[in-house]
Amino acid sequence: MTVAVGGRRVLGDLAAAARLTWESGRGVVLGYAAVTAVAGLLPVAAAWCTKVLLDRLDGGAAGDRWSLLPVAVGLAAVGLLGGLLPVVGQYLRARLDRVVGVLSMDRLYQAMNRLSGIGRLEDPAFRDQLRMAQQAGRSGPSRLVDDGLGVAQSALTMVGFLGTLLVVNPWMAAVVVASAAPALWAQLRLGRSRADVLWSISPHERREYFYAELLGSLAAAQEIRLLGLGDLFRRRMLVELSAANAAIAGQDRREARTEGLLAGLTAAVAGGGLVWAVLLAAAGRQSIGDVSVFLAAVAGVQLASQGIAHRIGMAHHAMLLFGHYRDIEATVPDLVVATGSGPVPRLRTGIELRDVWFRYGEDQPWVLRGVDLLIPQGRATALVGLNGAGKSTLVKLLCRFYDPTRGAILWDGVDLRELPVAEFREHIGAVFQDYMAYDLSVAENIGLGDVTALDDRPRIVAAADRAGMHPTIDTLPHGYDTWLSRMFVDESDRENPDTGVLLSGGQWQRLALARAFLRDQRDLMILDEPSSGLDAQAEHEVHRRLREHRAHGTSVLISHRLGTVRDADTIVVLAEGRVAEHGTHDELVAADAGYARLFRTQAAGYQDVSP
Ligand code: ADP
Ligand code: MG
Repeated sequence: MTVAVGGRRVLGDLAAAARLTWESGRGVVLGYAAVTAVAGLLPVAAAWCTKVLLDRLDGGAAGDRWSLLPVAVGLAAVGLLGGLLPVVGQYLRARLDRVVGVLSMDRLYQAMNRLSGIGRLEDPAFRDQLRMAQQAGRSGPSRLVDDGLGVAQSALTMVGFLGTLLVVNPWMAAVVVASAAPALWAQLRLGRSRADVLWSISPHERREYFYAELLGSLAAAQEIRLLGLGDLFRRRMLVELSAANAAIAGQDRREARTEGLLAGLTAAVAGGGLVWAVLLAAAGRQSIGDVSVFLAAVAGVQLASQGIAHRIGMAHHAMLLFGHYRDIEATVPDLVVATGSGPVPRLRTGIELRDVWFRYGEDQPWVLRGVDLLIPQGRATALVGLNGAGKSTLVKLLCRFYDPTRGAILWDGVDLRELPVAEFREHIGAVFQDYMAYDLSVAENIGLGDVTALDDRPRIVAAADRAGMHPTIDTLPHGYDTWLSRMFVDESDRENPDTGVLLSGGQWQRLALARAFLRDQRDLMILDEPSSGLDAQAEHEVHRRLREHRAHGTSVLISHRLGTVRDADTIVVLAEGRVAEHGTHDELVAADAGYARLFRTQAAGYQDVSP
């Protein structure tokens, strides 16, 4: 597979990398560029000093120390620089890597945070690209600049030698070019095909990584052991690894063949040139110094051309990765940008869904097909329906993670698309069906619900208490400061049994609930199956507390257990992407349709098991 990288795109990427590097640290860049330039000319200077020295020695100046000494000192200085420059260069390069890494990661995640919807994150292609951008972002730009400077350094060496030889004997320059040019050309091609091969195996590498991760993952451990999946996944991992290895082995063979051939050719040309130069010297038509410059030039130019080919190959690979970084960095907002600005007023009358149609993608089936719904201010609206009816999807639209494909959602009559999204979300609190469990302390897991409360311990404790989590937290080794993680911060943690407590699913759900309670003064509280992981008693308790809260707020409550929502002000039944029924519990039971049937089925289930 070859990867088409347009010339203009390459230049654009290079320029962007250079810009980013320049902005990260001008002093370091200038210093590094200076070191590179001097290092590029150093071999030429050494060869020239040697030539002058040999010629003077040969020309009978052996006794004249004043003509020899400066040259010898110059040669010594060149040697000293040759020893020091790599050290300074390495230091500057590492420094450059770090400063560029900070700036590029900052830009990348600023771009990520500009995505206010979540649709793009669901796109597997985007996620792939993001992963590669993360890989490239840290060191990609500085590597590109480094490779560029490396090419410049080798080019300087080459030009320096060829210029010198042109002065000495133009034919010698021609021989050197003839010995290095084919190798340079071939190696450039090889470098490019190596980059393409590395690129083409990246899907194998990603899958290999996926299986490797899976085999060590805590979340998957139970199923892998019970179902005996370990060997299957290990074999699949090896298949991916072998596929990647086979592609690289093919490339290695090609490289070995070509390079062997080239080495022979280059050596033959250089050897022929050497014999010719020696014959010229023997005939007195060229000085000893000239021959020494020629020898140094042959070796130096060959080395430089190898360096150029190698650097260009690496740059090609770095460029492919960096292209992804640039794509992500240039990501445009995924939602319509609001026409309005400034704070969003508090909800006064209610939220209205007007003929809302929605599907996750153009090639996906409709999930919502014309939902008309009013969520009145100050009331509790319950949303019920079978699995996959679109309840959680509706929640995502209410939070404006997506915009409706057709129709509109109105906040006191104003289309959500006209409200600035961050300000709008300030008005919402929610427990999502797939809530988060953060690898942070208990207090932070709750406090994140309102970042202004992160250090407000009394508020956090009150929220935990309302979620029925306070007694449990009190028994944890460090109370609210207990770290909820299996990850160890350092070696001493490993010994300390107090760190890294892991909660049960139901306990995590209560923490999520506590987190949402921190936002209970907001206008709309959304609870998507907030008690699905709780035992019956805890569920009863949580819903009692939720009812207390509902007395003064607007809420949308989703539950598949109809008993928990029967006293909501309105119950809305979603079926086949539309509102099938709505009314109070008593009205819906009296109507004796889908809701009544479902309710009777669930109630009968409970009666069957009761003694
Ligand atoms: P509910 O919460 O009522 O169980 P959901 O809203 O989660 O239902 O899902 C409704 C439908 O949308 C389901 O058929 C589901 O497969 C589909 N769906 C949900 N999320 C996505 C997604 N991110 N991409 C594509 N389809 C989705
Ligand atoms: Mg759901």
